[in-house]
Amino acid sequence: MEIKGLLFDKDGTLLEFHRMWLKVAQGAARDILQQYRDKSRAHPEVSERQLLEAIGIWGERVDNHGLLASNPVEDTAEVWHRLLRLKGGLPDFTRDVKAHFNRQVAENPLLIQPLPGIRDKLARWKQQGFKLGVATADTRDSTLYSLRQAGLLELFDYVGYSDGNISPKPDPALLHGFSRHCGLKAHHIVMFGDTVSDMEFGHNAGARKVGVLTGTATAAELQPHADLVLASVVDFEPEILM
Ligand SMILES: [Mg+2]
Repeated sequence: MEIKGLLFDKDGTLLEFHRMWLKVAQGAARDILQQYRDKSRAHPEVSERQLLEAIGIWGERVDNHGLLASNPVEDTAEVWHRLLRLKGGLPDFTRDVKAHFNRQVAENPLLIQPLPGIRDKLARWKQQGFKLGVATADTRDSTLYSLRQAGLLELFDYVGYSDGNISPKPDPALLHGFSRHCGLKAHHIVMFGDTVSDMEFGHNAGARKVGVLTGTATAAELQPHADLVLASVVDFEPEILM
């Protein structure tokens, strides 16, 4: 089957994941605790460590199955809201959490790095006429900022993010967005990702799935859900699946 479109998860697939999100989450947890303690609204015994463990950060290690690694930031806001036993509404708190995450990303631009060889490989595929897209669980501002910072943004025909108004992966909405925008059928698209959720996303939309080992999941975790598992996106050649 002919391949016409290549759709990529962002963190751990195109961009270096662990170092960046570890630092961003640590900063955001510290800031949100400070903001809500100052207003005397947060449960006084909740520590920064508890907030981080609740989203899958254990010391300097990011749990592959934790909320930070595989869910949108809204889910982080929800568990933090519950842990802090806040009386105020979740929507306002979610807005604050997103703002802290975005600010951490903006204040640490050097943490945003494309994975080795990614930029050249994408540029070559674009030159060969493939449509290129991104489907991420990250927010709009953070997605555009980090892709621009990594020097990748102009390579994409479509950038899909999760900002609360579109169902996040593994719901196939973002893949449908890519196929509509570029006039492609789902079976002409290959979805690349570093998590089982990315593979389920591709499956739910009827696309083919390539798992990569540059992010959070292991080969054993990805293999049952992927058509192919590779060390990195740069190891892919479209002929492999044609
Ligand atoms: Mg990822």
